[in-house]
Amino acid sequence: MTMNATGGEATFADLGLRAEILDVLSALGYEEPTPIQREAIPPLVEGRDLLGQAATGTGKTAAFALPVLQRMPPSGSGSGPATLVLVPTRELAVQVSEAFHRYGRILGTRVLPIYGGAPIGRQLQALKRGVDVVVATPGRALDHIGRGTLDLEELRTVVLDEADEMLDMGFADDIEEILAATPEDRQTVLFSATLPPRIDGIARRHLRDPVRIEIGHAAVRRDEATPLVEQTAYLVARAHKPAALGRLLDIEAPAAAIVFCRTRDEVDQLTEAMNGRGYRAEALHGGMEQEQRDRVMSRLRSGTADLLVATDVAARGLDIEQLTHVVNYNVPSAPEAYVHRIGRVGRAGREGVALTLVEPREHRMLKAIERVTRQRISVERLPTVADLRARRMELTRAALEECLLQDDLGPFHAVVESLTDEFDLMEVALAAVKLAHESNGAVLDAEEIPEVAPRTVEERRRGREAAPDGRRQGRAPSGGMVRLFFNLGRSAGIRPQDLVGAIAGESRLSGRDIGAIEIADRFSLVEVPQGAADEVIAALRRSTIKGRRPTVRRERDMRDRRAR
Ligand code: AMP
Repeated sequence: MTMNATGGEATFADLGLRAEILDVLSALGYEEPTPIQREAIPPLVEGRDLLGQAATGTGKTAAFALPVLQRMPPSGSGSGPATLVLVPTRELAVQVSEAFHRYGRILGTRVLPIYGGAPIGRQLQALKRGVDVVVATPGRALDHIGRGTLDLEELRTVVLDEADEMLDMGFADDIEEILAATPEDRQTVLFSATLPPRIDGIARRHLRDPVRIEIGHAAVRRDEATPLVEQTAYLVARAHKPAALGRLLDIEAPAAAIVFCRTRDEVDQLTEAMNGRGYRAEALHGGMEQEQRDRVMSRLRSGTADLLVATDVAARGLDIEQLTHVVNYNVPSAPEAYVHRIGRVGRAGREGVALTLVEPREHRMLKAIERVTRQRISVERLPTVADLRARRMELTRAALEECLLQDDLGPFHAVVESLTDEFDLMEVALAAVKLAHESNGAVLDAEEIPEVAPRTVEERRRGREAAPDGRRQGRAPSGGMVRLFFNLGRSAGIRPQDLVGAIAGESRLSGRDIGAIEIADRFSLVEVPQGAADEVIAALRRSTIKGRRPTVRRERDMRDRRAR
């Protein structure tokens, strides 16, 4: 762990970043570097090569983007870009470009994402005007290099992001070819969630004396992880996270909970959203004065607030007796942070609950946490509207039971008696329960939160490997998936990686979203998520696979099966 001069954990300012960049980070509400940023930023700022093992969710994008921005020559000084970032998918190209844009805006950094499927004309114009950072999928980058429209001579830094995923998708040769077109004295940075031998091979060939960093492998002492905490995770798309949090809190009905967020902005937004849902939520982050923080804490302790929304920094060292639930609104950036967070409940022999919201792309990070803590985090479905209704009923029932036990119902006798002149006792009871129920609940959100496919890496691999010999032929597509028919098969030299590469390169899907693949002699069938099918069809109709323009459509069961 990188320490600062006073022996504390390094802050952004300790990592050698320029004042303007520090200002950007504080404007974004980033309070402290994540572990990978602490480790990677100083050597990258010095210009060293780096081999980093880190999954999505660790803050790895900023870990390479900030040093790149720091080392960037003044905008517009060269003819070609100074930085090239290679990524496996269009989705990631957009995300990484957005991150560069966010961090580099006040430096005037010009960023261009380049991926298949997008109109090439606009990319050509932007390249001609001049860009500082190009974020590209390998296929489209090669395309531009071949046309002479992407000039790599001025390149200072190349980043290979999610390198294992790029290899899985069959981009190994493309990467070699692109690197061969870059200056020898460039800085090379390679990030990968896993480090299989093939990645080591690339690192040996193309990185010079790299700094090696692994995140999520520092074993946490066993006694640090609190076994009394029940740990559950829920896969949910980013857009549905506020609703998912509300649903979970409604179901769990915690006495007092702390919700951890990544940034100050996120804390503020979520606090407002939860207050809107009827919770008494208070924000706590490093941008607040000590006095404000003390006020928040006393409101929580006295029971005037029941929800604390906080960043790690602000919540450090807090000891709150009443806490029953810890919620991770995002997967924390390192397993150690997870362990610290959940250690806030389940103290002194009491049982606590830890809930984690996981975006599908953060799934790997969850596995890393399980490995380090050697504890299972069960991944469950979000409660449905029906679950919520049943739970509300249960809470009303419990409240009534408690009321009955209190034996202070005397004053209400007269009301019940006068009503029983006219109504049945059962009816009177039903009406009373209804009133109690309605006054008990927060707003009932009747909308279901869409499920996202919790497929594991292993399942995805198995799905793909099973494809070439057609063992999965004839099976119905998995839940939420549809099968697409391609008129190209084995006789056209098509391999699973060609299909995965084409789909991931041309649409917003990544390799992991793609399901089983069957390759027959004259056609192929590929499972893709239902919601993305039309986009994939449209994008692939404009592209080529192995030099041929494919016909792509949804599988029409009978006809396509007969074609077999
Ligand atoms: P990444 O692992 O690069 O995909 O980053 C995961 C998320 O963490 C992104 O939404 C970033 O904006 C956010 N993030 C990165 N670094 C920090 C930090 N030091 N503090 C708070 N949030 C961060």
